[in-house]
Amino acid sequence: MGRPKLTEKQAGKSSVARQNYDRQYYEDNYVAILAKNKDWGRRNPDKIASYGLKYRTQFPWRSRHNLLLRRFGITLAQWFCILLLQRNCCAICEISYPGPRGWATDHNPSKQKGDVGYVRGILCMSCNIIFGHVKEDAAHLHKLVHYLEKHR
Ligand SMILES: [Zn+2]
Repeated sequence: MGRPKLTEKQAGKSSVARQNYDRQYYEDNYVAILAKNKDWGRRNPDKIASYGLKYRTQFPWRSRHNLLLRRFGITLAQWFCILLLQRNCCAICEISYPGPRGWATDHNPSKQKGDVGYVRGILCMSCNIIFGHVKEDAAHLHKLVHYLEKHR
């Protein structure tokens, strides 16, 4: 994947001609470039991890924003709006401090990312773990409550 030789005009680092040349080169070769980058990533997992850590440390809010967008399709501002509507409490148990592991963003697994109602609410870790253990089964939760009340 050798680049064709640059003309003198293109060789200037910040010239528009150079930018156009780079853009055109990327458009013509992006499949090979992406494959090469992916291959580099596979050979250097420790570097990838350290770059990720550096980014998350340097830009914690941007990193959080990107994670929310990727995983749930909402922005950080939307996430804070949801938490504000819940009065900064867990949507189920209404606890205001989620513990050292932070809040869990709860989503509806039967919907697609980007659908209305995909993100159901923000929960404390305990409430989120309960959902995980009963696999979203309301009947199972009813049985738990029934069992608890029976043995009071
Ligand atoms: Zn809770």
